[in-house]
Amino acid sequence: MNLSTPVEKISGIGPVSKNKLKRLGIKTIEDLIFYFPRRYEDFSHLVKISEIRINEICTIRGKILEIENNQSWKKKMILTRAIIEDESGAIEAVWFQQPYLIKTLKKGDYLYLSGKTILKKNKIYLSNPVYEKINLEKLNHNQGNETEIILTHTGRLVPIYPETKNISSKWFRSILKIVLPKIKEKIPETLPKKILEETNLLSRPEAVWQIHFPDSKEMAEKAKERFSFEDLFYIELFILQERAQLSQEKAVAFPIKTEIIKDFVNSLPFKLTNGQKKAAWKILKDMEKGKPMNRLLEGDVGSGKTVVAVTAALNVIKSNWQVAFMAPTEILAKQHFKEVANLLTDFGANIGLLTGKQDLLRSKKLKNETIEISREKLLEKTLKGEIDILIGTHALIRDKVKFNKLGLVILDEQHRFGVEQRAKLIQPSKTNSSDNKRIIPHLLSMTATPIPRTLALTIYGDLDISLIDEMPKGRKRIITKIVKPEERKKVYEFIKKEVKKGRQVFVICPRIEKNEEVEEENNNIKRKIKSVEEEYEKLTKDIFPDLRIGILHGKMKPKEKEKVMENFKNKKIDILVSTSVVEVGIDVPNATVMIIEGAERFGLAQLHQFRGRVGRSSSQSYCFLFTNSPSKKTWQRLKALISSENGFDLAEKDLKIRGPGDFAGVKQWGMPDLIMDSLMNTRLVEKAREAAKKILINSPHLKKYPYLKAKVEKLRKKIHLE
Ligand code: ADP
Ligand code: MG
Repeated sequence: MNLSTPVEKISGIGPVSKNKLKRLGIKTIEDLIFYFPRRYEDFSHLVKISEIRINEICTIRGKILEIENNQSWKKKMILTRAIIEDESGAIEAVWFQQPYLIKTLKKGDYLYLSGKTILKKNKIYLSNPVYEKINLEKLNHNQGNETEIILTHTGRLVPIYPETKNISSKWFRSILKIVLPKIKEKIPETLPKKILEETNLLSRPEAVWQIHFPDSKEMAEKAKERFSFEDLFYIELFILQERAQLSQEKAVAFPIKTEIIKDFVNSLPFKLTNGQKKAAWKILKDMEKGKPMNRLLEGDVGSGKTVVAVTAALNVIKSNWQVAFMAPTEILAKQHFKEVANLLTDFGANIGLLTGKQDLLRSKKLKNETIEISREKLLEKTLKGEIDILIGTHALIRDKVKFNKLGLVILDEQHRFGVEQRAKLIQPSKTNSSDNKRIIPHLLSMTATPIPRTLALTIYGDLDISLIDEMPKGRKRIITKIVKPEERKKVYEFIKKEVKKGRQVFVICPRIEKNEEVEEENNNIKRKIKSVEEEYEKLTKDIFPDLRIGILHGKMKPKEKEKVMENFKNKKIDILVSTSVVEVGIDVPNATVMIIEGAERFGLAQLHQFRGRVGRSSSQSYCFLFTNSPSKKTWQRLKALISSENGFDLAEKDLKIRGPGDFAGVKQWGMPDLIMDSLMNTRLVEKAREAAKKILINSPHLKKYPYLKAKVEKLRKKIHLE
């Protein structure tokens, strides 16, 4: 028997089990032993029967005095009752609906029972305990020393495997109990010996054993840590290698044009906040060096990241290099185009907009007039270097836009883009420098979806981060409320009043189309998911027949979308029913009410973004969260939104409540669930990073470590192919 032996070779696994396992992706013994438990039941508390307490999870060891099936008339249920005795006393054990038990458990059998004690009619009994029979001969041989009898289902930390329809945890335990001892020594170590020694981690064979059958909680943790470390270690190796490669690359060193920057800052209709100043300065300093910048600018919705990016762009174009500015949606790209053009009016720049539909040019020659331009013409001008700043959507990479001298790439809402898309954007410029080294543009990414530090460290490696941690002065707090179904009417009344005052309203729904599909949550409560189409119909026909209502979602044609947005901006629509397409960017200051249907369906960061669509003028704004979810977690999350207006606080809270799995970028790594917890474990992340550094110093291309090299290569393929 070895690791690649098919599971059906194990005695006890027939064709039926084989197929069930196949559905879980388990084909070989290796697959089987790396199918890890999700949690453990702690049955390690072994007590004498006389010492049993009420409502306690415990394990007893004793002999069956009697066992029989009874019919419970009231509940039409079969109860199996047994009296168990040890040297200190006796207790009753009761099983429900398992009449066949009396075929396995007989009077006189010795066994372990683990379960919860319950008090009923002044009598304590063990309810539905798990049992494990003891081989009496073996017991006598060892003079009753339990530690010599290796327990599997009782009297220890018992592994519980991920929910599977047809395979029980008990089945897994029984099989593993046979397989593991035979295979353990054949499990190869994958971490370099040195790392293993220095980090004090469990060896791989030991960790596999301990993760299934831990000696203690500590050992279970240690086993988990070993595997988490391993996954992190590969990721860190990958990141550090990429990073090292990037640092070999050359970028243009842009001197800081102090006078121009000063003029620009003075030309703004507002004073920059300290946070903005600091961030802009850092970025300018980065680009002064001849190494490619890779900086993430984090700042809450409305903190004013655009103007910081424009400052950097201005410095680059004044050295006669070009800037690419990419946004995730057409609407946002267009908005940026207008804003950037506006901010740079007096600074003589040719600015292009490339969205895949309508292409625009703002030309300094035409005295800052905006004209429509054909795609070919715009691309040609870009290639010739006549466009200083090219703003656009994915079209910027899709259509293989070629620049003459691309010096800086700005990526707005970077969490919306994949690693690969980022990589494509920073392709070397076609311009050859004197020493024939290729030139990589600087990269500035921006996000309002803050990534907690541990996560950023893991996902982006040593990426530099700047934080704008203050908001422009004079913003009003948005009143946020959770609305229960019975309060819906009140909110509708409120909306009528606001619209009468001339204000506008957003209604966000989780889905586009009407759908009979229902979502099941805990307790099997079924709820319908609100759709834009349905809500639109309801609001138009029943609730607000005399108001002007618009509809917006991702399946509409770009022209239609634009028309709707325009109408909303121009106050021709009172209420806009939309999907999450309005999540980022959209700026309609006259909108003061944000309604979010099915609020439980959205992450905190996303809800915060929606809320950021209102509160953009001096009028008081409101955000109403509709939910009929009974889930405690949901309420916890929504309440966090009420108590905090700070996106960074919210991100940390979200991470605590939901775990990091939902965070943008994390899924991309395709990491197993096990590692998700460890992402929040800064110490382990740093440990993995240190270890990876050491290995790379010793062998930068991992030539001495073929196994690691293969692992990293696999990771690289996965990331870059996405
Ligand atoms: P975000 O960080 O969400 O991208 P924007 O860059 O879109 O934010 O800025 C939001 C709004 O705040 C814009 O209308 C912008 O002109 C304005 N703004 C930016 N900086 C300041 C400031 N220091 N003081 C006042 N308003 C500012
Ligand atoms: Mg922005």
